[in-house]
Amino acid sequence: MVAVEEASPYERLRNNLATLRLGEMSAMLPTYMDAVADGSRDFTGALLEMTEAEVAAKRRDDFARRVRSARFPYVKTLADFDFGFQPSVPRAKVEELATLRFLERAGNVLLVGSPGVGKTHIAVALGVEAVCARKEVRFVDCARLIGDLTRADRLGTLAKRTRYYAHASLLVIDEVGYLGIDASGAELLFQLVSARYERRSTILTTNVGIAGWADVFGDPVRASAIADRLCHHCTMIRITGRSYRMKDLPADGPGRPGGKEDDDGRR
Ligand code: ADP
Ligand code: MG
Repeated sequence: MVAVEEASPYERLRNNLATLRLGEMSAMLPTYMDAVADGSRDFTGALLEMTEAEVAAKRRDDFARRVRSARFPYVKTLADFDFGFQPSVPRAKVEELATLRFLERAGNVLLVGSPGVGKTHIAVALGVEAVCARKEVRFVDCARLIGDLTRADRLGTLAKRTRYYAHASLLVIDEVGYLGIDASGAELLFQLVSARYERRSTILTTNVGIAGWADVFGDPVRASAIADRLCHHCTMIRITGRSYRMKDLPADGPGRPGGKEDDDGRR
């Protein structure tokens, strides 16, 4: 007769912790059992420290999941931003935005400037702040957004897809103006911006000032309809300066507005 092997209380406890998905506590258990046995922790103290570690781990996982679902192209914060390099960035204004009060007012943010000056970085940093505040954030490149909505329109799922973007507490639309937008794309963008107007905040980055949007959207009426809704309750930040990507090149070298052309004749 083979005796039925019973799991020990320790093994059953480890199993229970695994079933409850308390991985951090499970990993710490042996150490804390020793600490209780040698008297360096009492039972309550040990349990408190283990649960605190578990709560911290769950918060980290939740933050990481929210950051993934926001789909940032990279994760950077304002602490990573060198304001000294880019003096045209109004630091106080950016720090005020980082308080997220603009979200309560459904205010928008427009970041305008040439490539590499830090538009996306600031948009991401504000998005990360919003994620920290447990807001739902979506980051999307403008061309991808229009492609996505166009596809949904073709498949008859436009309303559902528009809701996906319209419902986020903060929507970042990156790189408006890098590629031309056709009439149907502009109409889809207009519908989305209208759905969010005065209800939820949008951050938009662009290399083209609003005066040039007629060319981006292929039509002045559509361009002004979109600009009108975005610019009402809007913080505008215009960044003029060198591309950060060129920061290690000499200040009068290529890449600087007005800088010397390089061998290929490019600036
Ligand atoms: P763009 O204005 O074209 O959106 P980005 O914001 O993506 O440019 O900046 C390009 C790269 O340079 C990114 O890696 C970004 O983090 C970095 N960068 C830009 N400006 C700064 C800055 N002032 N301080 C630190 N990093 C910066
Ligand atoms: Mg960018």
